[in-house]
Amino acid sequence: MTVAASKKDERPREGADSWKHKPVSEQSMIEYLLIKRNILIPSADEFKYPKPTGKVPVNLEWEQQKRLFPVAILPILARWLFMKTTGYSVNPIVLYLLTIVYNQLFVRRHYKYLISLSKKHGFLDGEVGRDALPENMTWKVFREFAQGALVRPLMVFVLAYNRYELPHLSLWLPVQLAIFTLIADFVYYWAHRATHEVTSLWRYHQRHHTTKHPVAYLLGFADEPQEVFDALVSPVLAFLMYPLGFDALYMWSLYFNSVEIMGHAGIRAYMPAILTSPLLRPFGLELVLEDHDLHHRFGWRDSYNYGKQSMFWDNIFGTMGERVETAEANVDYSLTV
Ligand SMILES: [Zn+2]
Ligand SMILES: [Zn+2]
Repeated sequence: MTVAASKKDERPREGADSWKHKPVSEQSMIEYLLIKRNILIPSADEFKYPKPTGKVPVNLEWEQQKRLFPVAILPILARWLFMKTTGYSVNPIVLYLLTIVYNQLFVRRHYKYLISLSKKHGFLDGEVGRDALPENMTWKVFREFAQGALVRPLMVFVLAYNRYELPHLSLWLPVQLAIFTLIADFVYYWAHRATHEVTSLWRYHQRHHTTKHPVAYLLGFADEPQEVFDALVSPVLAFLMYPLGFDALYMWSLYFNSVEIMGHAGIRAYMPAILTSPLLRPFGLELVLEDHDLHHRFGWRDSYNYGKQSMFWDNIFGTMGERVETAEANVDYSLTV
């Protein structure tokens, strides 16, 4: 096999996950887990997705918040209650391990919800099938899931955990999280744009763009340097510029994850990024699900929509693209998902 051919085989593409139909006895452990844990999206021949017709429904911030907030606040309330009633603090290693498990539940619930929405509303650019994972890259997605589960919570603990401090959140939390996210997104914006515009840096981002019609689990389908940058460098730099308390940073990490997953889910709906859009939507600078979907579709040079959490920096630096299916005239605000 030539190098070009083997590279091509690594590309997520429609129907590439036909390996999931192999008998269990022929599946590797990783394949078995990806199938069993419902990570893969049903392909078009397994599920009849709605065709992209008519106006798109909305899933505005408040609706998203109703689903996410109770789950995000619960571990903070539980630790507060534990410390208040027992007088003990929580060992960081124990809390870190509990956090890993809890985050997985959070992500799985969110992921499952997004799949249910795609079944109900179909996909953007829905005449074209969504990409699927080729057999020789199952290890990559599995490793990303594992890294994501371990590394980001670790960052939150290393940066901000103080076991003797009672959990607390400010009434200004939404504003704090929005500012923090905008700072992290500024760092991300320039790093991302540089990989598109500086030829020698493109190789660090190229793999992520091998998917033109991503699905949620392809969020982290990227080369190692990009994975590290996305997961650690931009939030750590943001923290150095604008430190948050442990509980705020923990909530931020959950919300941030949920937006990243949503941005790759391809659902045909108007879904704004929850951390910054309440602040930015009045100015038309919110990021919605379609913005990053279009960024994938129209790939490398002369691309646009480099922000991952807002369109604020894209607007300021002149790289904000036009929406297609979720353009204002095609959104039905009376129709919720
Ligand atoms: Zn890109
Ligand atoms: Zn992406």
